[in-house]
Order: sequence, then C-alpha cells, then structure tokens
Amino acid sequence: MPELPEVETYRRLLDELLVQQQLVTLEVLDAHVLAVPEDELRQAVVGATVTATHRLGKNCFLELSTGQVLALHFGMTGDVGAYRHDHDRPRFTRVAFHLADGLRVAFIDPRKFGRIRLAGSIAEFQRAKKIGPDALAITAEEMQQGLGKKKTLIKPALLDQRLTAGLGNWIVDEVLFQAQIHPERLANTLTAEEFQALHAAIQLVLRTAIEHEAVYRHFPASFLIHAREWDDSATPGTEAHRFCPRHPKVEIGKHYVGGRATYHCPSCQLLAT
Ligand SMILES: [Zn+2]
Repeated sequence: MPELPEVETYRRLLDELLVQQQLVTLEVLDAHVLAVPEDELRQAVVGATVTATHRLGKNCFLELSTGQVLALHFGMTGDVGAYRHDHDRPRFTRVAFHLADGLRVAFIDPRKFGRIRLAGSIAEFQRAKKIGPDALAITAEEMQQGLGKKKTLIKPALLDQRLTAGLGNWIVDEVLFQAQIHPERLANTLTAEEFQALHAAIQLVLRTAIEHEAVYRHFPASFLIHAREWDDSATPGTEAHRFCPRHPKVEIGKHYVGGRATYHCPSCQLLAT
C-alpha cells in the first residue's frame, strides 16, 4: 500500500513532470477511480496549468491555475507514470493527463481503490476529510496536545489520520521501535521526553524512507522493518534480521494490536515503566 514515503516520491515526480505545464486533454480509461463526475473534472482540468504540488499524509495535490485543486489518493495499489504513445501506456492506467508537448501522465491503479477528487482548496479538503496535521510537519508539542490525553493504545492512536496524517502500519512499528516505546502503552502515560523521542523517530523513519524512495531493502540495518521479511537482502544468508539490532540475542516479537500485525523488541520496548 502506498504510504507517506511512496506518496512523497510520487509527488516529487509529478512536480517535475507537471508544474508550469498546461493540461490539454483528460483521458479517462476507467471512471471507477473518479470521485467527481467525469464532465466536471474535464471542465476543471482541460486548459488549466498545474501551478504547484503538495502532499498531506497519503494525499497528493495538484494546484491548478483556476484556483481549484486535484486531490489524488492512491488507495492500495496506486502509482504514477509517464509515457508518450498509446502503445507505451502503462498497464492499469485509469486516467491520463495529456500535456501540450505530447507527454502523458498516468494515474495507474490495478485494484482501483485510488481516487481522484476535485476541491476548492487543500484546507477545504482537509476539513471535509477530517485529516490532521501531516506527520512530517507536526511538532512534538502538537503531538503531546493531540495524543497526551487519549486513554487509547499509542499504536492505534498514531494510525488515526485525524490526529496525525500519513503514518501506516509498518511506519508506526518502526517509529515506536526507534523511540523505544511499547505499542500497547496508553497514549496518556507518555512523558514529554517520550513525545520528543516519538517526534524524532517519526522524522528519522519518514526521512530515511523518502531518501531511499521507499525501497525497504536499502533501509539501515538499525531498522526493525527487516524482521517483516519482505525481502532477505538486509542480512543475506543469516537470520540476523529476526533479532533486535540493539539486542542481537533477542528475537523481535510479532503479535496483533487493534487487529494489526505488530512487531516490537521485548527488551527495548517495555510495557511497564
Ligand atoms: Zn531491543
């Protein structure tokens, strides 16, 4: 599923391809991904120039010269691509924006859970969707204000997009591991120092993931993510990835928190304080 780091990578590509470019044709191959009537979208887009791109959590925005914004959400399998001719069109392209110079920018989505919306502004979209501050923009103090009174487990609280936007399942596990906080601590028991550690860990994990364009096998060996065994290249030929990077003899535990698979180190993330 495209998480914040993937969406930031898509945004950077869209920024390169689209800013200062006029959209001359809207090609809809499958209207399933449109959360706005096709005619309305065509009227808003054709002839408009993309003036800027933004990201809020897992949402990507294209600002148009008309003042409106296109909001792109990538669902489970969304991606972006570019091509020039029909025969090069990426498989599962659902919508394509054609530019004046012939380049076409594709909204690709095999499973079609992604959505393209139209909004008056990013602020209006954020209010309507009840999305909290972006995880890369939120301060430690804002986190403490938002989470510090919640009598809920810290992991589901961090996954709640209304409190902070853009943290998905593996990211929250990695953040809590880096901050050395147990996923089942109650949010209201965290100290100011722990909120500082949480904030620093969010910055570390997201910036590392963006830097590596979300290619997990390139993440540092100090990351917990390798225990998920999405690939085996972090510690080739060994079982080291199943153990804590700080405690080479302690195996990373897997259990379920709020129905989500959760990885943590039983030595560095303690439940009792
Ligand atoms: Zn450990």
